[in-house]
Amino acid sequence: MTQEKMWKAVSENDASYDGIFFYAVKSTGIYCRPSCKSKMPKRENVCFFDTAQQARAAGFRPCKRCRSDLSDYQPIKEIAEKAKRLLDDSFSKRCELNQELQHLGVSQRRMVEIFKEEYGVTLSEYVSNLRLAEIKRLLSDTDDEIINIAYSVGFGGLSSFYRFFKNGTGLSPAAYRKEHQK
Ligand SMILES: [Zn+2]
Repeated sequence: MTQEKMWKAVSENDASYDGIFFYAVKSTGIYCRPSCKSKMPKRENVCFFDTAQQARAAGFRPCKRCRSDLSDYQPIKEIAEKAKRLLDDSFSKRCELNQELQHLGVSQRRMVEIFKEEYGVTLSEYVSNLRLAEIKRLLSDTDDEIINIAYSVGFGGLSSFYRFFKNGTGLSPAAYRKEHQK
């Protein structure tokens, strides 16, 4: 990550970079998370660190406001909401999704906990529900080939697609289409 990019994240209080880097302000001796809402420092007073430990080792003190000393402190609700938005937008693109989720700055395990706490389902259950709803919609509202539907919601092959659909609805895609197509 370039300093320019980090500075941009700091000036936008961008919480998606929390945990990814820290910035310290030479004039105050304090280090913060990118999302910290404290007064915007002058660019020339700011330096960047990958970890809180590095900032401390360089003689900076943690900020009382953003609690940059607590490695697992995160604005939980915000992270859960961001994850949900990501899933809503790109549930069919599994690889990209995982990358985007990593940018939220918490470990995958922590993310699963946060999401479950907030929405009562796991990430993968949530994605499954989205996929199932989209498949049903495509089967009943379009004439798309079943293989194309499978690909468009992120399945790599038909057998896993059939299994998934049958588990969720008790029907094969073709039978579902026959019953529901307008
Ligand atoms: Zn701070």
